[in-house]
Amino acid sequence: MTIEITLLGTGSPIPDPNRAGPATLVRAGGQQLLIDCGRGVLQRLAAAGGSANTVSALLLTHLHSDHIADLGDLLITRWVTTFGPDATPLPIIGPPGTAEVVEAMLRAFGYDIGYRMAHHDDLTGPPPVEVSEHTTGQVWDRDGVRITVGPTDHRPVAPTIGFRIEHTDADGTASVVLAGDTVPCDSLDELAAGAGALVHTVIRKDIVEALPQQRIREICDYHSSVAEAAATARRAGVGTLVLTHYIPAIAPGQEEQWRELAAAEFDGPIELGDDLHRVEVTARG
Ligand SMILES: [Zn+2]
Ligand SMILES: [Zn+2]
Repeated sequence: MTIEITLLGTGSPIPDPNRAGPATLVRAGGQQLLIDCGRGVLQRLAAAGGSANTVSALLLTHLHSDHIADLGDLLITRWVTTFGPDATPLPIIGPPGTAEVVEAMLRAFGYDIGYRMAHHDDLTGPPPVEVSEHTTGQVWDRDGVRITVGPTDHRPVAPTIGFRIEHTDADGTASVVLAGDTVPCDSLDELAAGAGALVHTVIRKDIVEALPQQRIREICDYHSSVAEAAATARRAGVGTLVLTHYIPAIAPGQEEQWRELAAAEFDGPIELGDDLHRVEVTARG
């Protein structure tokens, strides 16, 4: 096993008693990469055996509220639970706009940061972060783990990005691509080409298009349906398709119906489920 994917939060902007907001944990080569940080991310991270201060880097696909809802909680909790001097800055990699969002978040918690620094002598500065903004290219290369970014299409939300994480060890190279929210596009096909797994957010357009509220129907404009995500997986020739960010939430007993919609387009393994569902990705032979 060389890469482990944990769906921390499989929900959407609509609060659900059983699904946290969008967030995925990728463990590779001893590193813990957190992709997006939706509602409830730290509770799910705790359930997966991680914590705010064990995250190696935060990767943001885009700046929609559901994907960054608990950014403040992550930054503050990491800061107050990292003991010892010289805490390493949290690397945050996202699309242009990320630095402004992180700064604004830290400003929003400015009173809290002030209270804690005044109270604890060993907190000598605000939460340390190291933000970088990208839309394409290699953004990380540490201890056998490489991360590449490619543009996705979630317009009018722009720019948005997907991540390809590759881990190379003695067994070969395992890889996973995290598409985020996007409609099918050439740049995603390219980023995902030949990957061991593709984690893709999905919407049931057949259900959502029939709803009475126009604002809800409009979310179909910039998301992939289950079939579209599966067709992307087929074109890119990925090993396993992992579905997440279900709109609407998968009702109990409906998993097979969702799986069949994907299976009509993609004949490889299809993974879907509840929060904390895990998928292991090995090097492809
Ligand atoms: Zn979005
Ligand atoms: Zn979303």
